[in-house]
Amino acid sequence: MDMQWFEDRQEDSDTVWYRIGSQDEILAVSKKWDEFALENGAPHLQASYVVGRSLWSFISGAEVRHLYELLMARIRGSQRTLVLPFRCDAPDRRRYMEMAVAGMPSREVDFVTRVIREEPRESTWLETAEADPLRTSQGGAEQSLLAICSWCKKVRLSETEWVELEQAIARLALFQRETLPRVAHGVCQDCYMGLVKALAASPEILA
Ligand SMILES: [Zn+2]
Repeated sequence: MDMQWFEDRQEDSDTVWYRIGSQDEILAVSKKWDEFALENGAPHLQASYVVGRSLWSFISGAEVRHLYELLMARIRGSQRTLVLPFRCDAPDRRRYMEMAVAGMPSREVDFVTRVIREEPRESTWLETAEADPLRTSQGGAEQSLLAICSWCKKVRLSETEWVELEQAIARLALFQRETLPRVAHGVCQDCYMGLVKALAASPEILA
């Protein structure tokens, strides 16, 4: 992975790019950003709102934050690029994506994301639950928590089992319940180990 590859991706109109400054603030985002926010059902996250704010105000869940911290610590100041797969679903489709993280001069870190492929799916209540926690958080004592991997979007069934959302809906009979569980963001074991391995790997994969 060289800088030319990275620069080409930045010019590509299908990519969403953002640059994080040395204080973890969002310095700039690409043109495609606003469109992407709309598609993901997050119209409030326009460029005019996010630029200047801390990256951490848009990352929920302690484990997810920890992963990003590891990533940033490894890349920052290195002028290297690391490419990682991840999922970022829109309400009506699964979206398999790739994230390139690159160290820039002056300790900035660039994130360039692009869609590898998409699959249509039935709309679920999940995005609503994420966007509007109040709707699902009034269940009282028996209110349960549904852990979702921020990286691959799988849902936790047990300590060791993570499955696709549709499977979780069936297995947990979510639609038969009177109150829906609240959504908690986490990271599944596969994603956590994958990222830790990628970060620890020898410099060959960090071109
Ligand atoms: Zn995962």
